[in-house]
Amino acid sequence: MHPDDKQDLVDSYASDPFFKNIVNAESLPDVLVRHDGLFYYQSKLCVPESSYRAKLLYDNHSIPVSGHLVVRKTSSRLIPSYFWPKMRETIRQYVQSCHKCQESKPSNQKPYGFLNPLEPPVEPWADFSMDFATPLPKTKNDNSGIVVVVERLTKMAHIVGNKWANVRLSIPRHGRKGPGLFSSMAHVFVPKR
Ligand SMILES: [Zn+2]
Repeated sequence: MHPDDKQDLVDSYASDPFFKNIVNAESLPDVLVRHDGLFYYQSKLCVPESSYRAKLLYDNHSIPVSGHLVVRKTSSRLIPSYFWPKMRETIRQYVQSCHKCQESKPSNQKPYGFLNPLEPPVEPWADFSMDFATPLPKTKNDNSGIVVVVERLTKMAHIVGNKWANVRLSIPRHGRKGPGLFSSMAHVFVPKR
């Protein structure tokens, strides 16, 4: 690391909303180590808000060699070696606000409509929100996705593995073909965004 970068990091810890607490802490938890002015979290370099962090994001997303990688790929380059709180969120925001990416991405976004606030649920096991993470690498049970279903009144969450093909099938059928967690009372499904 260039000495200027190191100095930038050392100086920036004190003004970072998270790391400033660590700089002033009397003792550090086992997972945090201070070495030569720099902090390491489980041997990943701690990167406060700084021009070094901006440079890392740029280098791992924007330079021609990186080829404007998507959020997941940019994350997979940074997360093994660096740490800061809400790192994925920072990377997501960085990638989403990248002008080059926005210019080159064909817009398939429907025109924005008005947001209709959801009616609060009145009974349990009637209103659900859902989120899908697919496709993921297949497990030995041939599952290649995760469905997270949250019952909106009690906030009770179910997380189930699912076969990618069945994920789509299980929605219109209200899950009757699926793992049997959807209520037959269900009448409102809300895609979680
Ligand atoms: Zn980009």
